[in-house]
Amino acid sequence: MPSTNTTVKDIYCPKCAARYDTDSILTLCDCGSPLLVDYDYDQASRIIDRHELKNRPFTMWRYREILPVKDEANIVTLGEGGTPLLPSAHIGNKIGMNNLYFKDEGNNPTGSFKARGLGMAVSRAKELGIKKLIIPTAGNAGSAVAAYAARAGLECCIIMPTDAPFPFKVDGEYLGARIELVDGTIKDCGIRAAEIAKDEGWFSFATLKEPYRIEGKKTMGYELAEQFDYDLPDVIIYPTGGGTGLIGMWKAFDEMEKMGWINGPKPKMVSVQADGCAPIPRAFEQGTDHAEEWKDPHTLAAGLRVPGAVGDFLMLQAIRESGGTALAVSDDEMIEQTIALGSKEGIFAAPEGGASMACLIRLLDSGFIKPTDRVVVFITGNGYKYLDTLQEHLPSNK
Ligand SMILES: *Cc1c(COP(=O)(O)O)cnc(C)c1O
Ligand SMILES: [Zn+2]
Repeated sequence: MPSTNTTVKDIYCPKCAARYDTDSILTLCDCGSPLLVDYDYDQASRIIDRHELKNRPFTMWRYREILPVKDEANIVTLGEGGTPLLPSAHIGNKIGMNNLYFKDEGNNPTGSFKARGLGMAVSRAKELGIKKLIIPTAGNAGSAVAAYAARAGLECCIIMPTDAPFPFKVDGEYLGARIELVDGTIKDCGIRAAEIAKDEGWFSFATLKEPYRIEGKKTMGYELAEQFDYDLPDVIIYPTGGGTGLIGMWKAFDEMEKMGWINGPKPKMVSVQADGCAPIPRAFEQGTDHAEEWKDPHTLAAGLRVPGAVGDFLMLQAIRESGGTALAVSDDEMIEQTIALGSKEGIFAAPEGGASMACLIRLLDSGFIKPTDRVVVFITGNGYKYLDTLQEHLPSNK
């Protein structure tokens, strides 16, 4: 049988330590927590030569031995991952930073880093014989599931808020998905998706409700390590919604430590959210383990309009263990920095990327970030997916 030489072992619950095998279809743990994938790290460190990885095609499948797909034939790919790490051309100079980098995830298929997580989740769904995928989404996740489902020959249903940016409503249909709009937040979409799933037998791809999306997102951490030659940056700034990217990268750093790939301190993980929806910064400040749901969430950054997340405690753990912080920025600051990224760096970013940049400016002002720090600002999505939102804030109208 063809294989990926995966070293996957089993699935575990980070909350109650329950274990599950990888041949069954899994959702959340019986205790309600998201599940994580475990590997045989001794074996992985024996069979992978990290310095040889660069000779493989630069997609996320480069790390296949520490990814969960068992049979190579089940990999569903559109070339996700392998995104550039861009040193700042002008902004760094202007704000006195010599080591400022942008990780431009807008280069992924369907225009955002959602391609990594959902490419992985769809591949595993195919491997496990799942046929119908449903997802509640604020936008980018829907496009990604639709694309990978189409490629895998699976059915896809997308439930999104009526006020989602219009490109998401268009590309999902072209990618073959059935689309339903709900007058409400992503949370309401989640409730509607659960109903349809139950009535019609769809499998839910809601954030963290299946264990494999994180495994795709964690490849951002592996890529960064390679791009920094295994000397990780001091700070990572990441716009946070459901938290899969933050949790995934932190898992990747932990795995690389277990395999002896990295030494020294791991990056400080910084979560940025919006003033109008900031459950994680609020919980971080209050010192709680879980984040209370945010009432009446609003922000133009659709990916950050997530009032409550099942992985809240994992995000807070990663932020605290890493010595990081969590911060909310205003929509105005986001737009201002989205314009700066475009006009000073040539990166047409989703407003979530502007949020990362706005967070950097704040943390530099407060002294949390030193001008000498090596900082990676995540641009999680492409501005082309937000044209209707962005045209309302054109620089010429300021
Ligand atoms: C989904 C999304 C986010 C939030 O990502 P999580 O990893 O779920 O926290 C941020 N930015 C963009 C552009 C997104 O689509
Ligand atoms: Zn559990």
